[in-house]
Amino acid sequence: MAVAAATLALLLGLALPEWSPLTPAPVDGYPVPAEANAFWKMVTSLGATIYGEPNEATGELLKLYKPESGVNPEELGEYTQGDILFTNKGNALSRNGLKAASARWPGAVVPFEISYGFSPSDRQMILNAMEEYHKHTCIRFVPRRGTDYDYLYITNGNSGCWSSVGRVGGRQEVNLQSPGCLTKIGTPMHELMHAMGFMHEQNRWERDDYVTINWQHIQSGRNNNFDKADASMTDGQGVNYDYRSVMHYSAKAFSRDGSDTITPRGYSGDLGQRDGFSAGDIKKLQSMYKCVGGKTMLQD
Ligand SMILES: [Zn+2]
Repeated sequence: MAVAAATLALLLGLALPEWSPLTPAPVDGYPVPAEANAFWKMVTSLGATIYGEPNEATGELLKLYKPESGVNPEELGEYTQGDILFTNKGNALSRNGLKAASARWPGAVVPFEISYGFSPSDRQMILNAMEEYHKHTCIRFVPRRGTDYDYLYITNGNSGCWSSVGRVGGRQEVNLQSPGCLTKIGTPMHELMHAMGFMHEQNRWERDDYVTINWQHIQSGRNNNFDKADASMTDGQGVNYDYRSVMHYSAKAFSRDGSDTITPRGYSGDLGQRDGFSAGDIKKLQSMYKCVGGKTMLQD
């Protein structure tokens, strides 16, 4: 009897359409927009490791962070690509998650709450990072009202700098451990840009035309942080590869021996920076959020 049941289950399993828990399945026939599918394809291509819990080992490492090391604090994380973490898998795959799966924030409005765990100056730096979005794009961070279901919760856990990518649905955390993640304004701007729907610059599909990855200098087990996105999953928004992007890793990211892991080709400046948006970052944000004359044309 048990054998028959197992066989039946196996047959049923084989008969089911191919679906993994990491791809959004239509729920109750709710249609998944093509754009949402493309977004989830991009995010889930990173693998199951994007889902997890904040970890204190990263927090302890970040406590030792020194800005003069030349790396960025968000590169110290044990998370996917250093700082990408989805803590609310349930939401991401729920009906609400699917509705939210276009990854963009409706009307370019992003409700947020900041936890009480920050000092006044930390809090001010986070607000200043948001102000950069207000200055250069049509995106508006607004204090969460009771009716806002989807929102960012910006907090200060002992777990490094991290965010999920895009609007996930429900409350989604952005962690900015102080002081490491609040050394430069570019780090909160970077994590917020993940939350707006963007990935890292050096993982673009065409990056090998612009940089050389020095695999021999990468810490063991971290090669996947340098995986390239699929060409169909680009979020470049028509903007060329951008060495100065606030989303670009530093040249020594995930270095095992202090040597550069990324060498630019035909460019001699620093890779990435955390002082503010590059011109390309602003263009990409404006494009994704359809900003025209300080307003958004985005409907959903
Ligand atoms: Zn990042």
